Amino acid sequence: MGILPQPAAMDFEHAQQLPVGSLTGIGPQSAARLQKIGIHTVQDLLFHLPLRYQDRSRITPIALLQPGDPALVCGEIEFTDGLERGRPSIVCRIRDHSGSLSLRFFHFSVQQSLQLKPGVLLGCFGELRYGYAGPEMVHPEYRIVRSPEQLLDPELRPVYPLTDGLSQSVLRKAVKQAIDLCLTRQDGVTDWLPAELLQRHGYPGLKEALLTLHNPPAAIAAERADNNRPPALRRLAFEELLAHHLALLQGKLRYKNRPSPVFPADEAARRQFVKALPFRLTAAQHRVIAEIENDCGRPQPMLRLVQGDVGSGKTVVAAVAALPALAAGFQVAVMAPTELLAEQHFRNFSNWFAGTATSVQFLTGQMKGKTRQPVLEAIGSGAANIIIGTHALFQDSVQFQRLGLIVIDEQHRFGVNQRLALREKGQPAGLHPHQLIMTATPIPRTLAMLQYSDLDISVIDELPPGRKPVTTSVIPSERRSEVIVRIRHWIAGRRQAYWVCTLIEESEQLECEAAEKTAANLTLALPEARVGLVHGRMKAAEKDRVMQAFKNRECDLLVATTVIEVGVDVPNAGLMIIENPERLGLSQLHQLRGRVGRGDQESYCLLLYLSPLSQLGRQRLAILKESGDGFVIAEKDLELRGPGEVMGTRQTGLMQFKIAELNRDADLLDAVPEAAQLLLARHPESVPALIRRWIGDNHHYAEV
Ligand code: ADP
Ligand code: MG
Repeated sequence: MGILPQPAAMDFEHAQQLPVGSLTGIGPQSAARLQKIGIHTVQDLLFHLPLRYQDRSRITPIALLQPGDPALVCGEIEFTDGLERGRPSIVCRIRDHSGSLSLRFFHFSVQQSLQLKPGVLLGCFGELRYGYAGPEMVHPEYRIVRSPEQLLDPELRPVYPLTDGLSQSVLRKAVKQAIDLCLTRQDGVTDWLPAELLQRHGYPGLKEALLTLHNPPAAIAAERADNNRPPALRRLAFEELLAHHLALLQGKLRYKNRPSPVFPADEAARRQFVKALPFRLTAAQHRVIAEIENDCGRPQPMLRLVQGDVGSGKTVVAAVAALPALAAGFQVAVMAPTELLAEQHFRNFSNWFAGTATSVQFLTGQMKGKTRQPVLEAIGSGAANIIIGTHALFQDSVQFQRLGLIVIDEQHRFGVNQRLALREKGQPAGLHPHQLIMTATPIPRTLAMLQYSDLDISVIDELPPGRKPVTTSVIPSERRSEVIVRIRHWIAGRRQAYWVCTLIEESEQLECEAAEKTAANLTLALPEARVGLVHGRMKAAEKDRVMQAFKNRECDLLVATTVIEVGVDVPNAGLMIIENPERLGLSQLHQLRGRVGRGDQESYCLLLYLSPLSQLGRQRLAILKESGDGFVIAEKDLELRGPGEVMGTRQTGLMQFKIAELNRDADLLDAVPEAAQLLLARHPESVPALIRRWIGDNHHYAEV
């Protein structure tokens, strides 16, 4: 093949790591294109698996062709026509014993059009579709033959995922070389999974798995087409999931090995603080506080996730957890995903710490120049003790004097990526801050392993006493006028309500426009109501003014986009209408609904769906009607829609897989933690190798 100067001295480990540019047929341009889809080395090519396979082992009678199903046909040309109408094209009709088919070509040479003469036997590979003139294939691959047998190819042809400017044949040739280099020799590619693990799961070795998938026997391709996973594919998906899990675990181990400040718990200070609160902490809150205090009392950084349903009182837990750090003279940063929520935290913390020596400060990206500078100075000098804000807290311009604890609220809004980057917000003294992460989105156990296996988990599994469950109804949009009557009565009773407009096509602008329109319509329909509007495109000060007015009861009906999703607290607002709830994930709906039911009166949530609703849509909304428990809701949503959907791209952050697909492969996750422990304990050398193979070198996990 002439790729390497001295095959005899070749280091096979090295062969895997060769740049793809060293393969015959891959010039600098193709190499650059391959890079775009993440293929840098020969090994990357080996792990670039076919999407599907082409079967040219048999000829399909024309009458049996299925649209969308590529197939090989063979027939005699009846006639060929040049068409001038519109784009110039030629149409060539072929016939076999079962029927006839038109072939349409838009790009063709004169020579080509001359070859396609009546009576010629033509083999074609392509996909059937229905055009003006009946069944046709557009630009099929074709060959003039003397007998149909000439067309047959017993081997399945892999079809690889491509990128612009790269052809199947270039890729096939390159993969074939990669296989020759690494797979057809002894030890060409290292199998990092120990034999006992393979045996336990019935997985083939790595070499066999890769060979099978690139050059499969026909039976396997058929299996794969049926969405059955042959062991070869299962093994690779498992290996990839394992690598991601290991990367998180390793990040944790490394971070945990760093020094961090020790904050001894101060019982007296805690008691005093808790006594001053307007409520009594629940047993669950006390338990979680104790877990956090225990972590912060150690010289290694805490990495703890607090999960607690909406309204379980996570904010105050963070405030109590901050006391030991403050007592030791360290700063505490509290980060919220939105300005609105950051402001609310700021108000709460300011109240709780009023009359103490603790200075609570506020910083968001909206603050500029004169308002920003003094806050930055206070953070830098240590005059600010608790700093609350949005992700602006972690910009380079913000220098903490002595950061001891980072609290990240509603973590699911931030990707794994961002969370890990935050850990790098270093310390002048080389001491790493403790980290507390709070989320209301319950992540089912299996998925937690990919999302949170670098964290210790605490659960607040109890709501403050006296909360009444929210009565939820599912109502079709045809009954909108009844809903409006209901709002009228509600407001007449001096209570307030939310009207939530949901996301349209992931476009914030459209969502905001819809909210504006809805607010105008509701103002017309309910002339006696004071209607407010808050959406994501409003300036922070404006949003704040509207929210404040709503809190002060200067507004009866608040029309909002999903910006109110997290944390907003107005106890008198006990009615929520969610328009087009079918567009949102159940966990998100549950969070929205958590805005009501915060007081001690009855509260209601009306899910005003656009009918007709699919069977699945109805089932999903019914879950919400029946359950008020965020964990149950998340589990059921998972069952109905699969993990990929439930986690959503926004929530998965870094989690992009080459081979594994969460919806298909979630069942493989169960065995991942045990395998990870086995590798860490007995084959530690394989851990970094697996991470490098599947995730690469430049990932955040490695930087932690
Ligand atoms: P979440 O867990 O959703 O972030 P919050 O921290 O916003 O919940 O708390 C919701 C409301 O419950 C707030 O008004 C908070 O002051 C109040 N709260 C918190 N803990 C308790 C408690 N133990 N008893 C009564 N009310 C509480
Ligand atoms: Mg909260």
